[in-house]
Amino acid sequence: MDFTLSATDRAFQESVRGFAARRLAAGRLERAHDARFPWDVARSMAEAGLFGLMLPEAEGGAGGSLFQAVLAMQEIATSCPRSADVFQAGNFGAFRTLAEYATSAQKERFFAPLLKGEKIAAVAMTEPDAGSAVTDLKTTATADGAGYRLNGSKVFTTNSEDASVFLVYCRFGAGVGGIGSVLVERGMEGFRLGAPSPTMNGESWCALYFDNVFIPPDLVLLKEGGFRKQIAGFNVERVGNAARALALGEYCFRAAKAHAEVRRQFGRKLMEFQGLQWKFAEMRVALDAAELLLLRAAVGAADRLPDAQEVAIAKLACNQAGWLAANEAMQVMGGAGYSQELLVEWCLRKIRGLMIAGGTLEMMKNRIAEGIFGRSFSQRPE
Ligand SMILES: Cc1cc2nc3c(=O)[nH]c(=O)nc-3n(C[C@H](O)[C@H](O)[C@H](O)COP(=O)(O)OP(=O)(O)OC[C@H]3O[C@@H](n4cnc5c(N)ncnc54)[C@H](O)[C@@H]3O)c2cc1C
Repeated sequence: MDFTLSATDRAFQESVRGFAARRLAAGRLERAHDARFPWDVARSMAEAGLFGLMLPEAEGGAGGSLFQAVLAMQEIATSCPRSADVFQAGNFGAFRTLAEYATSAQKERFFAPLLKGEKIAAVAMTEPDAGSAVTDLKTTATADGAGYRLNGSKVFTTNSEDASVFLVYCRFGAGVGGIGSVLVERGMEGFRLGAPSPTMNGESWCALYFDNVFIPPDLVLLKEGGFRKQIAGFNVERVGNAARALALGEYCFRAAKAHAEVRRQFGRKLMEFQGLQWKFAEMRVALDAAELLLLRAAVGAADRLPDAQEVAIAKLACNQAGWLAANEAMQVMGGAGYSQELLVEWCLRKIRGLMIAGGTLEMMKNRIAEGIFGRSFSQRPE
């Protein structure tokens, strides 16, 4: 086993680090406190070839690996935490599911503006009565001529205020086997967004309402039977979630370290107090351990989708390590860490959301237990 980066990966990592230092570091505080999507960052990343990193070159991407995407995420997030969300939108989530399952006509239609950083796509999966139990979703696609009529609603959709296209999980028939997905564009007749509702991380989300929206055949992504494929694609989103939580924890760790090296109390530097040194030791161990689990999931994927069990383990570890690091960093920094003049408190709020988004910590533990015992455990009443 070799823990050193290849020359190619190191050069790539250094180039992203340089880009982040030049283009993202300045203005990171203002960017984090602006609720809207940072389009200027999207355009810079697109110009630098950082969107569609994992897409084949023939489809306008860079032909990179999931491992490289994780390396890039770490460099971007530790330079400008909010910009990590932009990298997520341009590589993980709906983008990667489209890359995996869209027809060539759909790719031609949707990828060009996404790759230029002019538009973003959002994932609309969660419903008022279908959160962790996502297979309870009720949004239905009913056959109508050559297409379908979409009826239902979605909640908690990240980037709902700014997305142009929504990857909507819906039901073509009964049961898990009846679930598939369609693409809905902003402005389609019968599609309405509710009022923006603010959340703890400073972003807002809008409920999505579908009232008899006509879905032509070319906007169907996966028909009934598509759920397992969608969740397989969603494991890439989970890797992005894990990478962000970990990198934001690392950001907080570095901020606290820099603070402890100069701040003096009782005539000594904070770093000289053993009670704080032990916090740093615990943060470092948690962050390094989680990083190894994340990289295992990413490397294991090679050019396929990552393994669900490895991703669940990595997401749980990265969410918990990121949270521990942000929380302890804030404690080490006292009032300065709590202040909105620095980004530690923002990272703490952001990581808290990542522990719920993309499958909660508890759902990750359920998935891990299934892998351990090699069987599924129904969470439903008899
Ligand atoms: C920051 C953020 C961004 C999000 N972005 C999106 C998005 O872009 N698109 C989208 O579709 N959704 C998004 N979501 C929604 C997210 O996927 C759901 O919030 C999540 O799946 C949990 O569903 P819920 O909120 O309905 O909670 P519930 O499912 O009601 O769960 C409540 C609590 O019960 C626990 N619980 C539930 N079932 C079990 C069980 N069987 N065993 C143990 N514990 C259980 C959960 O872990 C949780 O702690 C986002 C959420 C957040 C916080």
